[in-house]
Amino acid sequence: MPRASQEQTRTAPGSAAALRVANQRRVLSLLLGRGTEAATQADIARETGLAAGTVSTIVRELAAADVVSTVAGSGRRGTSVRLARGAGLVAGVDFGHGHVAVAVAEMSGEVLAEDRRPLPPSHDHEHGLAIAREMLDAQLDRLGAAHDALRNIGMGLPAPLSDSVVMSSAILPGWVGVNARDEAAEAFGTAVLIENDANLGALAEHRHGHGRGHANVVFVKVSSGVGAGLILDGKLFRGTSGTSGEVGHLTLDEQGPLCRCGSRGCLEAYAATGTALAMMGEQMPEARIDDVIAAAQQGNVSALRVFEDAGLHLGWGLAMVTNLLNPGVILVGGDMSHAGELLLESARIGLRRHVLAGTTTTPVLVAALGDRASMIGALVLAIEATDLLPA
Ligand SMILES: [Zn+2]
Repeated sequence: MPRASQEQTRTAPGSAAALRVANQRRVLSLLLGRGTEAATQADIARETGLAAGTVSTIVRELAAADVVSTVAGSGRRGTSVRLARGAGLVAGVDFGHGHVAVAVAEMSGEVLAEDRRPLPPSHDHEHGLAIAREMLDAQLDRLGAAHDALRNIGMGLPAPLSDSVVMSSAILPGWVGVNARDEAAEAFGTAVLIENDANLGALAEHRHGHGRGHANVVFVKVSSGVGAGLILDGKLFRGTSGTSGEVGHLTLDEQGPLCRCGSRGCLEAYAATGTALAMMGEQMPEARIDDVIAAAQQGNVSALRVFEDAGLHLGWGLAMVTNLLNPGVILVGGDMSHAGELLLESARIGLRRHVLAGTTTTPVLVAALGDRASMIGALVLAIEATDLLPA
């Protein structure tokens, strides 16, 4: 039977077949939400409102299609169910200022393989994608998985994106003007979803990190650039053309230092790693940001002041974001967040100083997923875009 008419039969509104598909989707959606944690058939019945017999039939059908696996329980626990390897795999790819990270996961979110390699910031996109493809193929080989088991790939870039085209980027100049979705789909031979890296960090923290249970989450990545991902009412907010969250270019001082964007006194000009390294340039000429953090932790007063100042300015920027959006939590990720409380303590002071008086204090925490946040977000993006319904 041709696929189109099969679809028609399956989904004719009001038909028994349409109801069956709708019920399968409810069960799959619940299992997706559970992730790696199995649900008992009783849990599924209770949480979906479906009758026990219906759940049992659906689970049997999904297990026959290898989309779920079941483990028989003892006594009242009943059979427990989780998404299976047969539902397919996804990959997450995260490009940063000096690295690319690649991971393969099951639909349950369980990460099966992950790897990170340095990559010069000046690399061109073809080279970057070729390295990522090589890493992905090596992971699939190690897992004994075929390339066509990949259902979707999520990919993050540290740049403003408009419909997957890289707008401007001082961080990845070799990608500017590139349609990242098309180029990546060709390089990987699989459908690819493209998203800004801070947006992916927000998605990851909302689903699996400190943003869980909050409807409104701000994730700020403070690395060589400063960008925010926004979860509003439980959903990723992309703005009209996909460039929301560019908090790095909030003006803190009209007379301030020149920013690489051409404006003056931007948050990024005070809080990004380049500024911290420049301030410590004389004392620690060859230092990387983690060296400056280590110096601060050992009590180097200049290094301590660098993070205190960066944090204070970060807090002022976060106050503007808080006055505008009233988030439930603010999570700080990126290389500067390795400084932990050395950065966040003054960020909270800066925030408190400029946020509307009398409002509830918004917690500011280091992101739970650390440097993996954008890569995990890329996996979430790929998983949530995949239709798990068996054909
Ligand atoms: Zn700027």
